[in-house]
Amino acid sequence: MKIGFIGLGAMGRPMSKNLLRAGHEVHVYDIVPAAVEELVGCGAIAEPNNKAVAAAAGVVITMLPNSPHVKAAVTGPDGILAGKHEGTILLEMSSIAPLATKEIGKLCEEAGVPMLEAPVSGGVGGAAEGKLAIMCGGSEELFQQLKPILDVLGSSLCLCGGLGAGNTTKLVNQHIIAVEIAAVAEAFAMGKKAGVEPEVVYNAIRGGYANSRVLDGKLTAAMDREFKAGFRLDLHIKDMANAVETGCAVGAPMPLGSLVLDMMKYLSANGLGSEDNAALMKYYEKLAGLEFGRAQ
Ligand code: NAD
Repeated sequence: MKIGFIGLGAMGRPMSKNLLRAGHEVHVYDIVPAAVEELVGCGAIAEPNNKAVAAAAGVVITMLPNSPHVKAAVTGPDGILAGKHEGTILLEMSSIAPLATKEIGKLCEEAGVPMLEAPVSGGVGGAAEGKLAIMCGGSEELFQQLKPILDVLGSSLCLCGGLGAGNTTKLVNQHIIAVEIAAVAEAFAMGKKAGVEPEVVYNAIRGGYANSRVLDGKLTAAMDREFKAGFRLDLHIKDMANAVETGCAVGAPMPLGSLVLDMMKYLSANGLGSEDNAALMKYYEKLAGLEFGRAQ
């Protein structure tokens, strides 16, 4: 199948490589030329802009940072809708605001381009292994039609409802992860101040109810002082801002989300926005005057 892939960042690169490995013809574009060159080296076909990607492919996948980037890539003068043809389908896999998803979906519908939203969870590792959790929104018919492509990229697929439901689900996911990292940091800071090393607490509790992927992935990253992204803190700030904004729009109280968003903004303002979201643990390190590193 001729597939277009727009946005060759931390996630888009391994995802498009998996599509190439599965035998698809993949037409790619990113505003960063080096990312395009890497994919061409793996067998992809470079296109000069998003319009050309749409003109060359049937299904066009977008994997971009946030709502404004997706809007620009879809509706801009050199955008996907400018290059559409009969058979163009938009598979929008970025994590963006549900309201923006609905707006973009409406513009696509008016242009005769069916759209499925399909944000993912599972990180760069999940993308490389083709084991992402994919949370879709759109019609059942389109979901079934695109399932063979989604199966290459992920191992858990769910159609959550109409357009907007996929990104709403993704925001729930992101809210839980952010609040959980902060909760782990707060609890472990108290433990360390009281004289029990993080590694000791971790080994003692990981067999019980408090264990989680955040404990296994983010606490251990902090213990190893490994904060290279992964999932950039600034992208998580974008998700939490979208979550809190959505909460405001629908009348859902989000006191914890608002608090954790401010912690993340503080870290970003102090130069840590490009680190992994595990760097949220550093907020408590600064507050408590300690580090979560392993005991020597
Ligand atoms: P990234 O910043 O690494 O990559 C985004 C890419 O989009 C960049 O290469 C950038 O140059 C490109 N881009 C921006 N505007 C463009 C445009 N108009 N046209 C073409 N290319 C453009 O981000 P990422 O980590 O790959 O994340 C992408 C999306 O997936 C985000 O919404 C993020 O929240 C979500 N996500 C990321 C992870 C993760 O672990 N990194 C996990 C799950 C979901």
